[in-house]
Amino acid sequence: MERIVLATGNKGKIREFERAFSHMNITCVPVKEVATVPEPEETGITFMENAILKAKYYSEKIGLPCLADDSGLTVDALEGEPGVYSARYAGSHGDDEANNQKLIRELQGKANRTAHYVCALALVYPDGSSLTSEASCDGEIQDTPIGTNGFGYDPYFYVPQFGKTMAELDIDTKESISHRGKALQQLVAKVNG
Ligand code: IMP
Repeated sequence: MERIVLATGNKGKIREFERAFSHMNITCVPVKEVATVPEPEETGITFMENAILKAKYYSEKIGLPCLADDSGLTVDALEGEPGVYSARYAGSHGDDEANNQKLIRELQGKANRTAHYVCALALVYPDGSSLTSEASCDGEIQDTPIGTNGFGYDPYFYVPQFGKTMAELDIDTKESISHRGKALQQLVAKVNG
């Protein structure tokens, strides 16, 4: 049985990664369960740079294959912001409420609401070889939040295909169309060779 270390502590992501690899002879183990290693600084200017940086860092420290992701929201009318700064858009890391308030403020009076969730994945092996994938999910930012599923920008991210926000979709539907779900499907296909 091959083991892959997951460079995340996010329970939702861990469950998604485990499910994607469950039909293969691979177990996914969150990094905290195998080692106590300080988190690396995410200094990349693209999602892929950050994903590779994290996966490489942990696989070198731990000596096992490591899977890392970096994701976020890019808004066309804001020249791609918040981008790699999605988690800390309003200043403090992971403050969804403040990030959403800032997003809606920045978009006031702007007619173009098109936006994209992007996810980059990198699986780096201890010998330095790697597999990567990247996918996006298109939507529009609405001013009023709707729905309680998901996290982050989901209540404001309207998915035209379903006529609902991401926060109104159930987890299976979100996984089938989301940036992370699609990037994960592509990566699993590459691992299968
Ligand atoms: P990270 O990849 O965990 O660093 O996430 C970056 C940030 O992007 C999160 O804190 C959210 O603000 C945003 N984000 C990434 N994926 C999603 C998603 O599926 N829904 C809502 N927000 C997301």
